Amino acid sequence: MNNGKICVSVCAETADKFIENIQRAAEFADVVELRFDCLNKEVEPEILWTELKKLRQNFRGHLLATFRPKEQGGKRKLSLNERRNFWHDSHVYEFVDWGDFEFDLHKDDWDSYFKAVFRKIFRSHHDFHRVPPNLSEIYESLCNLTNYINPGKDSDVVKIAVQTDDISDTIAVWKLLQKAKKDGKQIIPIAMGEAGKWTRILGLAHGAVMTYASPGEGKETASGQLTAKELIETYRVKELNENTEIYGIVGNPVSHSVSPAMHNAAFKFHNLNAVFIPFQVKNLGEFIKNFIRPETRKVELNFRGFSVTIPHKQAIIEYLDEMDETAKAIGAVNTVKIENGKLYGYNTDAFGFIEPLKSVYGNLAGAKAAVIGAGGAARAVIYALKKEDAEVTIFARNLEKAKYLVEDFQVELKELSKTKDQRPKTDFSDFDILINATPLGTKGELESETPALADEIKNISLCYDLVYNPTVTRFLREANSANVPTLNGLQMLVAQGAAQFKIWTGKDAPVDEMSASGIRKLQS
Ligand code: NAP
Repeated sequence: MNNGKICVSVCAETADKFIENIQRAAEFADVVELRFDCLNKEVEPEILWTELKKLRQNFRGHLLATFRPKEQGGKRKLSLNERRNFWHDSHVYEFVDWGDFEFDLHKDDWDSYFKAVFRKIFRSHHDFHRVPPNLSEIYESLCNLTNYINPGKDSDVVKIAVQTDDISDTIAVWKLLQKAKKDGKQIIPIAMGEAGKWTRILGLAHGAVMTYASPGEGKETASGQLTAKELIETYRVKELNENTEIYGIVGNPVSHSVSPAMHNAAFKFHNLNAVFIPFQVKNLGEFIKNFIRPETRKVELNFRGFSVTIPHKQAIIEYLDEMDETAKAIGAVNTVKIENGKLYGYNTDAFGFIEPLKSVYGNLAGAKAAVIGAGGAARAVIYALKKEDAEVTIFARNLEKAKYLVEDFQVELKELSKTKDQRPKTDFSDFDILINATPLGTKGELESETPALADEIKNISLCYDLVYNPTVTRFLREANSANVPTLNGLQMLVAQGAAQFKIWTGKDAPVDEMSASGIRKLQS
């Protein structure tokens, strides 16, 4: 256990919603931040104070008040006078013990008032556009204000929240933790944005006072914020420490990945001091240099391995020290293990694909398999099928792009045809197994699409969709209506993840727990 706290930030326009969200927040929070600037100007304060009074009696944690003006990232336009009146309202300091004051409020007369009235003061600076080049100066000037502490009060906290775009931007923010530790200051450094998510997960383990969370999905007050439930149940952030082994998924995008849910469930099952984190990485070379390689890294995180996803599965190869035979043959790596500073590459997609297939189809020798799509996943699929002596034909929309597969794997290549009105129209009647290795059918824009229709697949013995979200795709519904047995992508996802877990930890993966967590994540 570390000493950090989870602060759930509550922001709503109406009193009813505000109170409802506070009640939800209190379930997981050590601290509830009341974002009073989110409330409509017209909200009748009396309703709020009556409800807050009731809540105060049941909630054992701290309440933190924030009344941030729009130009500093708040929700309302607020004059200095309105802000002064708010902080001098006796209700605020009656119910709330901590206050977050933006840097421009730290003037002598205000400061002594804040110090007298609130038990703990957060001295905050926000930049919603970038990491300011003078981050150290901002830190120093906020620290200088924290030198004097009233007797009977808690130490002041420096809070610096800045927007990051790539993982390399987060380094300067993370380094503030070390600086504050050396200076004996309490700090909450926040790298906002998807790229900074890891700082929200690992901050408490490395000495941050708090990490901010949302009360539920869609209720975030800043980008990259996770829900309090996820921080506690998936990432176990309060149990992590500086020795925690770090794993993660490296790609772009990674925000909807199911892998953190699956792998963290496996770590929990085996009671390992390890965590799996989404790392949104645009520039792979910079990531390897700054976070991984012992000779050059700027951040020390006890990294032990990572999954690699789109668009880095091939690009990662040049940064590896060694690669296993399967990854070499496929020409793509989805798993990296780090041992004694060296990077070892593996590919578990082929195993993840073939295991569920063999368990439902049996012996694949001589089976005629049609693979639709010619991207990274298709390479692993073709490799695995060929190893089992299946006869493989690729169907691709772009033959020019796909011709390398013919050279690399000696397979047949055919065009994926469409009718004039863009409906699928390919004859698959000669095949035993039909595999979708395109993103067609994936949740979102492509959800209603399918690479094949029911009347094209009625002679097939098995349809296998690599797409796992949703678990039942349009392609699989077409197969169902043609009475063709199906296999969905979730089983492959779990099988390739289980193989990764074994590579990293040497332990057998708890497949049922991983699968259940994956399904819960997909349904959330
Ligand atoms: P990729 O490298 O981007 O390749 C996608 C392939 O699909 C390319 O050949 C692409 O053709 C083709 N394609 C895209 N849109 C198409 C369309 N509208 N019509 C016909 N073909 C189309 O992606 P990937 O890594 O191979 O992944 C493919 C799918 O498999 C994804 O949905 C991914 O989520 C899934 N997958 C699942 C698992 C699992 O564990 N279940 C593992 C890996 C991948 P062009 O080259 O012409 O663009």
